Amino acid sequence: MMYFDNAATTMLHPDALAAMMPYLTDHFGNPSAVYEYARTARKAVEAARAQIAKAINARPEEIIFTGSGTEADNWAIKGAAEALSGKGRHIITSAIEHHAILHTCQHLEKQGYIVTYLPVDAQGFVTPEAVEKALRPDTVLVTVMLANNEMGAIQPLAAIGDITRRCGILLHTDAVQAVGHIPIDVDAMHVDMLTLSAHKFYGPKGVGALYMRSGVRLRPFIHGGAQENNRRAGTENVAGIVGAGRAIAITAGEMPDESIRLTALQNKLIDGIEKDIPHVHLNGPRKNRLPGNVSFSFDFVESGSLLHLLDMEGCYASGGSACSSGSPDPSHVLLALGVPPERAHGTIRFSMGRYTTEADVDALLALLPPMVERLRAMSPDYEDYLRGKNHDR
Ligand code: PLP
Repeated sequence: MMYFDNAATTMLHPDALAAMMPYLTDHFGNPSAVYEYARTARKAVEAARAQIAKAINARPEEIIFTGSGTEADNWAIKGAAEALSGKGRHIITSAIEHHAILHTCQHLEKQGYIVTYLPVDAQGFVTPEAVEKALRPDTVLVTVMLANNEMGAIQPLAAIGDITRRCGILLHTDAVQAVGHIPIDVDAMHVDMLTLSAHKFYGPKGVGALYMRSGVRLRPFIHGGAQENNRRAGTENVAGIVGAGRAIAITAGEMPDESIRLTALQNKLIDGIEKDIPHVHLNGPRKNRLPGNVSFSFDFVESGSLLHLLDMEGCYASGGSACSSGSPDPSHVLLALGVPPERAHGTIRFSMGRYTTEADVDALLALLPPMVERLRAMSPDYEDYLRGKNHDR
């Protein structure tokens, strides 16, 4: 199998699975229970909290486990909006956020909040100047993602954080695609809240976390028991949390070498596609891009057809982002980059990870040109283009 969809999810690391197993079997105790037997589970949750905190330069008590990255995003935005509604009802975000952010903001708009969706430049970057210009006296939150899931652009969070800190405005970042893949320091970036999700860094699915800087107090999003220091109710997913902790410890340790290796594979794939296939467009920047993320638009090709041909060869990638696959609408991220809708429809994201080998990239580079040629041979638009009717592509 050639798996080029690590931005959608990653394979659970075998050591993370091994660390989880005892908490699915022998150590099944409820961490909230007071007897000695449950203490093992409680200690394991706290050890994992410390591992996650260390990876982003936070303190363990600033990490609150959630059931997903989506939950953490919802909590950060709705929680800040509610807590600060006395001060104002204006939120700033970007046009290229994940739906976990965008749909939450749209929900708040229906409740009377005003949301500014910042545009990005042609490379996919939100500029700090645009953030500063958008600030209003009633702005209560800025939420800008750290790295984009569809085309990998790493946003200038530290510069944005300088502005929000100076103006005393809360800053949240959705770092789901970034944690475990690029170095992160919540202090250096001046972020007040940060979202992460374990299944993007070789941990299990269904475990997220919200970093909340000491002093930031949001009401619980999920009401019930006193878990997570009264901040997020619900019996902890102990095994999942343990797996998340183990996974982040491994990926953080491997990151320096792994990011060099993945950047080399990324460059090889980008150069190979640009060399061997005409009428292609790389989406997003060449620099300041997540290692391993490659997004290309192939003119005169429907991404669904190309994905199907790749699938038949045991090669798995995705069209834009997994969450929007199956949707006939072009990706909002590509549209924000200025990609025309017909080109957006021919877009494939190849995302590599710790199990991707150079042989996988070579095999993909051998598969793609004849597949693209075959699909173009069936395209009336391409025929028109070849006949010179369509000069503008
Ligand atoms: N934010 C970003 C940038 C993502 O890429 C994803 C998942 O694709 C999420 C949030 C949602 O995370 P989860 O799958 O844990 O709900």
